[in-house]
Amino acid sequence: MSSTELARQECAVTILGGPTAVLDIGGLRIVSDPTFDDPAPHGYLTKTTGPAVAEADLGPVDLVLVSHDLHPDNLDDRGRAFAEAAPLVVTGPRSAERLGPPAVGLSPWSSRAVPRGDGGGDLTVLVVPAVHGPEDADRDADGNVNCEVSGFVLSGEGLPTVYISGDNASIRTVAEISRRLPDIDVAVLHAGAARVPTKFDGRPLSLDSRRAAAAAAVLDPRLVVPAHFDGWTHFSEGLADLRLAFDEAGLSELLRVAPHGSWTRLDKS
Ligand SMILES: [Zn+2]
Repeated sequence: MSSTELARQECAVTILGGPTAVLDIGGLRIVSDPTFDDPAPHGYLTKTTGPAVAEADLGPVDLVLVSHDLHPDNLDDRGRAFAEAAPLVVTGPRSAERLGPPAVGLSPWSSRAVPRGDGGGDLTVLVVPAVHGPEDADRDADGNVNCEVSGFVLSGEGLPTVYISGDNASIRTVAEISRRLPDIDVAVLHAGAARVPTKFDGRPLSLDSRRAAAAAAVLDPRLVVPAHFDGWTHFSEGLADLRLAFDEAGLSELLRVAPHGSWTRLDKS
């Protein structure tokens, strides 16, 4: 372990900026939506902040989750290289086709068991739906708005159940997930109200702050960790909006915001 390596935690999450989260859980280090590029334009999107922790300082990673591979704010160039070097990537079927090994594509409501690093049996990685834009938007041939996006639910014996939303703008979808999985402990929500003028008349492609608070009300987790609300110019709402929306919903107690690269514990305490 190098002196700069991000210290291992028993059960915690940190956001590195943009959508990128690191979860230490069940003796595994898991990274979702890896993005490690320096700030710069990426086609029609512009990144304004680099990651709080560089990929080299994460040490060995056991699993990478990719909500979708087509949008550079969720998988940029160095994030893609990082995913390709991981022992396992779980994503949706279309993304897996494009990414190739080590990506495994799972349709919503199918899961993969990953042996834990703490001797506790398996961690179950369940793929759940996500809708990457307004409910009434045109659907592609696969029935997706914008593109295929996967959310994830991680669970295991003695571990908190963690939902990672991916780029989802749909409260209906959050409600479906909550109905089928009533015991979600932690919600990592891609908020920020991403908007692109050419897509769906500029309507949100991810949760805005009020919908993030609504998602928290529906899921009723112990804590909510927001992601995907800073670091790119197309994120139209930030931390102040999230704090206000959670306050107005009376749910400020749930919101956990640590500086990027600092840990939030997920175990009960
Ligand atoms: Zn996207």
